[in-house]
Amino acid sequence: MRPYLLLTPGPLTTSETVKQAMMSDWCTWDDDYNKGIVEEIRKKLTALATSRPEEYTAILMQGSGTFSVESVLGSVVRPEDRLLIIANGAYGKRMGAISSYYGLNYEMMEFSETAQPEPEKIDKYLSSYPETTHVSVVHCETTTGILNPLEEIAGTVKKHGKTLIVDAMSSFAGVPFDMHALGIDFMISSSNKCVQGVPGFGLVIARRSLMEKCKGVSRSLSLDLFDQWETMEKGHGKWRFTSPTHVVRAFMQALAELEEEGGIQARNTRYRENHDTLVKGMRSLGFETLLDDSIQSPIITSFLYPAKDFDFKDFYLKLKSKGFVIYPGKISQADTFRIGNIGDVRPEDFTRLTEAIREIFHA
Ligand SMILES: *Cc1c(COP(=O)(O)O)cnc(C)c1O
Repeated sequence: MRPYLLLTPGPLTTSETVKQAMMSDWCTWDDDYNKGIVEEIRKKLTALATSRPEEYTAILMQGSGTFSVESVLGSVVRPEDRLLIIANGAYGKRMGAISSYYGLNYEMMEFSETAQPEPEKIDKYLSSYPETTHVSVVHCETTTGILNPLEEIAGTVKKHGKTLIVDAMSSFAGVPFDMHALGIDFMISSSNKCVQGVPGFGLVIARRSLMEKCKGVSRSLSLDLFDQWETMEKGHGKWRFTSPTHVVRAFMQALAELEEEGGIQARNTRYRENHDTLVKGMRSLGFETLLDDSIQSPIITSFLYPAKDFDFKDFYLKLKSKGFVIYPGKISQADTFRIGNIGDVRPEDFTRLTEAIREIFHA
């Protein structure tokens, strides 16, 4: 069932048991599904995201992760509000693209793709523009694998009393954080990243008191986060429209496996070991990482091309035939490729990977 490992940032390699969980059919309207599975998932997600679950609520939304980012921006930020978007990669920029589609009153604060956003600049901006109501930021920029300083940024945003929206798509369940301790108001992730489910829906953990005020804000019917939330609350797990039942069932299994592994901290440790094994092996072959170790996440790692005439496509196909699928780079400043450390993969897989890369270069 595994022709190759996906060393990619989602969809990623899932366990056999997560795949098997999709082998039965579920009815969207039935209690077994809604009360038994969806409500259970919402409870578990809230408990994973915050130490004060009673102050937060979980909403599941059909589609890929971007649909949920759009759902939050379009259902939370009103026309009279002002949004500051902090961007140091493609996903930060995408929040700008969404805001532009919706005609939101927003400003982009851009940083280099290989540097962390500077909390002092955000602090200065918020002092100069106190009319700002919301700030949004990406936690792990999957574009490069950089881990942004969420604690410092959140501290700054909270000092100014603004609503904080975090795209933690590729970090939630892989990097520990507490929404309550940091003061995060809305957090977005998806089924196919560090929880290790299959693709099909996004998830939003929202501060209940703010979610309650979002009625009628959305300019999209299918992405109306308030309406989706209200239906799930009142209907005890009911989705407004056809839900991705098999994906949801697989996600429930993935959450059980996260618990079995020992929770988010244990998963973070495994991802770090994956990353460390990968980087050590690659450096021994002469490869260099794009980012400094101090700002690198354990989620995905960018490597510079080893030579100007490096043929990525050829390298990619040779690696694939040896059982590993990797990712092209996504930045303009340097020629890179990326290798994901997340999913149902272990340090020994990365030892085998670097062995395969050694063979390719010495063939
Ligand atoms: C994966 C990801 C997304 C969502 O991408 P989709 O292709 O829509 O699933 C958004 N932000 C970040 C940081 C991501 O890693």
